[in-house]
Amino acid sequence: MEQFGHVIDGREESDGATFDSVDPWTREPWATVALGGAAEAHRAVAAARRAFDEGPWPRMGFAERGALIHRFADLLVEHLEWLALADTRDMGKPISDARGKDVPRAAQNFRFFADHARLATAETLPMDTGHHAYTRYEPAGVVAAIAPWNFPLMLESWKVAPALAWGNTVVLKPAEDTPGSATIMARLALEAGIPPGVFNVLHGYGPNAAGSALTEDRRVDRITFTGESNTGRAITGAAARNLTPVSLELGGKGANLVFADADLDTAVEWSIKAIFSNAGQVCLAGSRLYVERAVLDEFLARFVAAAERLRIGDPKDAATELGPLASETHWRKVRGYVENPGGKILTGGLGEGWVVKPTVVVDVPADAPIQCEEVFGPVVTVTPFDAEDEAIRAANGTPFGLNAMIFTENLSRAHRVAAQLRAGTIWANCFFIRDLRAPFGGFGDSGWGREGGDYSREFFTEPKAVVMAIRSGQ
Ligand code: NAD
Repeated sequence: MEQFGHVIDGREESDGATFDSVDPWTREPWATVALGGAAEAHRAVAAARRAFDEGPWPRMGFAERGALIHRFADLLVEHLEWLALADTRDMGKPISDARGKDVPRAAQNFRFFADHARLATAETLPMDTGHHAYTRYEPAGVVAAIAPWNFPLMLESWKVAPALAWGNTVVLKPAEDTPGSATIMARLALEAGIPPGVFNVLHGYGPNAAGSALTEDRRVDRITFTGESNTGRAITGAAARNLTPVSLELGGKGANLVFADADLDTAVEWSIKAIFSNAGQVCLAGSRLYVERAVLDEFLARFVAAAERLRIGDPKDAATELGPLASETHWRKVRGYVENPGGKILTGGLGEGWVVKPTVVVDVPADAPIQCEEVFGPVVTVTPFDAEDEAIRAANGTPFGLNAMIFTENLSRAHRVAAQLRAGTIWANCFFIRDLRAPFGGFGDSGWGREGGDYSREFFTEPKAVVMAIRSGQ
């Protein structure tokens, strides 16, 4: 069994209580993990507080800090296999995705935010009163980063990278189902020369445990959270008592609109990726497909055939495209929707162990739970439409608003529809392509605030105005 401890103030601790991380393919424990509670959370925050108040990190120049972060990114790439296998064993993600996408993207997040902070400019505001004002972006302080299990390393890096690049110190709590890559990352940060106490990792559960203790701690200056909308509500409640600013990246129920004038090869290829990548355990999943009636039969025939071709199996096998769901609890939840789909299953259903096969459901009423709630599995509903405004209304018909996709060869239609969709990211004729400078976040129940580029700077810094008097004469 692998061992993963907390990393607090530069030391890995694994001598207290522990819990097991279960490999969802073998359904056997594969790692022993330190179990933190309020006491460990308080120690981790105290370490981050000390490192911020007294240590070199927030006082370093951007170039020096950026060089350490680049060294850290180099180590992530050097240890790609170790990190990829940890995520795959923790949550069943196909190893080809962990190797080819998640780990490289995590390293890229660190490099991007280090460079973004180093190259950032600030405002100068010439005043006509004999004064001159300018802006400084100063680190906010101690950041609590609370992460979900679906893209463990990648989403953790999306939070930790801008926080560190802007000079903050961090306590990261990975999801209890996916502890491995966070501890490995903290070990590598120390090896890169990032000072002790700057990047701490705390393991444990959420409510009434390590997670809530972090959100209730007055010494925390920012909380960045990715996870379920209801957890976001609980965290916001805790943060409100201390007036701690919170950034929330929450659930989704992505609509995917395929118009009759779409290139169907493109639409099928991306629609398959949008719902079956990572076994549908993606906040951005295209879980509601709306297809213009004129092409419905042709689209469905191609889409179902492509879904049935996906290779299901051991996620450690490089050829596997769809592995098991991440945990027994999550599999039970998704199984509930598959057993009561509210419509007709064209293909898919339950597989071996905790596998759910790529599942396509038609004839689903608009108010069926599978159509309104986040299933977070490889399950898609397909609904026909006849007119553009009808498709837009349906797409906007949930409380979520994280993302939507449009497939059309009509440029004006793509822009027109993109403007009317109530979601934080719209993809036209593609999916999942990101520019790290772009705002990322959701409307409605999908979140609060935006991260990415300057948006991350706004959240992880305290902008300060300095006003100078310019005296006349000598
Ligand atoms: P979750 O909300 O159950 O847990 C996320 C994290 O919060 C875990 O680390 C958990 O331990 C912690 N937590 C739980 N309750 C807490 C509390 N009361 N106080 C403090 N911490 C607490 O989410 P999950 O099941 O791990 O992840 C899946 C969800 O995440 C889905 O809803 C998905 O859409 C969402 N998600 C959103 C995005 C996005 O960018 N918008 C990205 C990925 C996942």
